Amino acid sequence: MPVFQVEMWWRCSACQAENLGRFKGCQACGKAKEGEPFYDAPGTAVPSYEQRVTDAALIAQATAGADWACRYCGSHQRRDNGTCAECGAGQGEAARPATYFSSYIGDANRAKAEAASAPPPLPAPPPPAPFVSWFKHYWLLLVVASVVLSIAGGLYLLFRTRVVTAEVLERTWEHKVLVERYMVVEGQGFAESRPASAFEIVPRGQRFHHNDKVRDGTEREAYTERVACGQTCSKTPVSCTTNNNGFKTCSGGDQRCSTKYCSETRYREVPRYKDVPVYREWYTWKNWEWKLHRSVSEVGSFDEPRWPSDAKVALNQGVGPGEKERTRNEAKYHVVFEDREKKLHEYTPKDLEELKRLKKGTQRKVRVGILRETTIEPF
Ligand SMILES: [Zn+2]
Ligand SMILES: [Zn+2]
Repeated sequence: MPVFQVEMWWRCSACQAENLGRFKGCQACGKAKEGEPFYDAPGTAVPSYEQRVTDAALIAQATAGADWACRYCGSHQRRDNGTCAECGAGQGEAARPATYFSSYIGDANRAKAEAASAPPPLPAPPPPAPFVSWFKHYWLLLVVASVVLSIAGGLYLLFRTRVVTAEVLERTWEHKVLVERYMVVEGQGFAESRPASAFEIVPRGQRFHHNDKVRDGTEREAYTERVACGQTCSKTPVSCTTNNNGFKTCSGGDQRCSTKYCSETRYREVPRYKDVPVYREWYTWKNWEWKLHRSVSEVGSFDEPRWPSDAKVALNQGVGPGEKERTRNEAKYHVVFEDREKKLHEYTPKDLEELKRLKKGTQRKVRVGILRETTIEPF
């Protein structure tokens, strides 16, 4: 960061002439500089590097140190002046800090000081009371609260459960016997889906099996890439402190640059693929398998639940050579309770024993709710 010296100005209190900071006497009337403050050259409140002092002698004067004030005649003298140019007093015994008389004021401050003689501006009117924004928030709060409340209420109704006294109104049961037969089953498919135990395998010609992805040249594909495209630059802010001698020391104002990046569309060749159909042999075959052959059911309501009789199931009747049969049982139970408000509640008994206990008109306390299955409360 560059450091540089900028020359300031002062205004003669006798003739109002403006003088460069380097002079300690007025260039118009010859009066010695006393308490007159230094200010920035008009229009340059923020000095730039271009306004720096380049002359070697002036740089030496700027960096020599603060001016001193003669205690005998009051004039201001350069630090490198050994004796007062006005009265000849020596710096060693006559010097007081010149800053005691003249503090540095900036260009902006000088304008302010000149305007200080004008009558003070009227005080700003008080800001309007924030009633409108408070009112808006009040309504927003009401809306949010009512939405939250209705969601909570809906959830409560969905998950609420009640215990009601109800009696058995309807009852249904179904006992089903599924008969599976071990028999010759015809199958077809590709080789990989054919069971190892298959027999009478007959090839039936080629069929479409799947598509292979096969390389088929290349195609052009667009893509974007971040590439450097010049620079973005900005100057660092300048800050200054007065030397109390008609100059000030400034730093900053140097250029900082960073690489700028742009998106650029580019193209590249990428492999292209095409679908190539693959055909394989299709087979038919025969195989010994367990297959569902038939089912027989008994259904009822309040009568005693029973299973289909052996005569009705007729196991192994009509089986061919090598064939055999086996059975599998399925039971379905269903009860409808009616409470005192004539509302119906569906119930699934756990087993046959429970179903038998739920005769017509049997009373139970049941727990019901919208999102749950009906359950019977323990006694
Ligand atoms: Zn003057
Ligand atoms: Zn003097």
